[in-house]
Amino acid sequence: MTDNRHVKVLILGAGPAGLSAALYAARAELAPVVLTGMQLGGQAALTHTIENYPGFPEGVGGPQLGELFQKQAEHFGAKVEFDMAHEVDFSQRPYKVTADSGDYFADTVIIATGASPVHLNVPGEYEMTGRGVSYCATCDGWFFKDKKVVVVGGGDSAFEEALFITRYASSVTLIHRREDFRAGAILQKRAKEHPKINFVLNTVVTEVNQGEKLTTLKLKNVKTNEEGTFDTDGLFIFIGHTPNTQMYKGQLEMSDLGYLKVNDKMETNVPGVFAAGEAADATFKQVVTSAGMGAAAAIQATRYLESLEEETAHS
Ligand code: NAP
Repeated sequence: MTDNRHVKVLILGAGPAGLSAALYAARAELAPVVLTGMQLGGQAALTHTIENYPGFPEGVGGPQLGELFQKQAEHFGAKVEFDMAHEVDFSQRPYKVTADSGDYFADTVIIATGASPVHLNVPGEYEMTGRGVSYCATCDGWFFKDKKVVVVGGGDSAFEEALFITRYASSVTLIHRREDFRAGAILQKRAKEHPKINFVLNTVVTEVNQGEKLTTLKLKNVKTNEEGTFDTDGLFIFIGHTPNTQMYKGQLEMSDLGYLKVNDKMETNVPGVFAAGEAADATFKQVVTSAGMGAAAAIQATRYLESLEEETAHS
């Protein structure tokens, strides 16, 4: 590090991928700096309980796991900055990352900016967000104590969150556009057996009422085209995620869906720029796989920096 804005390893994002990368880079004595973005702990921190991260047989709270990741990385010398990156320049070294606090210059960058929830894009959804429409059960579930709630989606997130909301809500209706679910067998079994959860299938939400608070959804059966209204106090939407990679457009190669392209060493098409976690993973999207990708990216960044030093020594 030549000054406090020039770092050897700059990590964008503080979810499982970013903080695992920070741990490995810190233990390699590279004094990594992590820019947290909006969400310290990433999406995992928005999950009430994580039951499939190894080492926690009873499960672990999402926010708690994020804090443990951070503490462990900081213990070895990583610096976690509550700062938001909004522009990158990978055209020359050191790479420039412009954040709220100013410019950082970095010899290597590890991108771990994760993914954000997909929206239904139906009338009323945006207007009613925070007034009954939510994308985070852990954050907002409490507001629906003894209320009727709808969950949309058929994947692990929808099932996991529907089960979580039963702690508060009087009933949870899971609305899904098909008859089959993507969610894993254990979650499906738990939800189907839960007395508070019921299912409306082959159905989509087409409109959300607008006003002081959420009261009604418009629904459509996609098989019969029958339309109707459904009374509810809450609408939780869990229909997948989209990678947070807009900032790298034109500089890094990405798939049509916006996932950064990396090889098996987490290398992007720009030497010294690596990517890990959901920004680069359209397939697995697990806390443990993101953490593994973060560790791999940091190991490779360490090797890359060593090769640069060797080049300099021989030139
Ligand atoms: P997902 O697996 O992609 O499921 C999204 C669901 O939303 C699908 O059922 C999909 O329906 C539905 N959907 C998509 N667009 C829709 C639209 N416009 N209108 C209505 N429904 C729509 O997403 P996810 O549940 O967020 O999970 C993402 C990844 O994280 C997965 O790999 C999952 O395994 C992982 N995850 C794991 C855990 C866990 O292990 N405990 C927890 C959460 C997430 P179709 O099925 O018809 O496409």
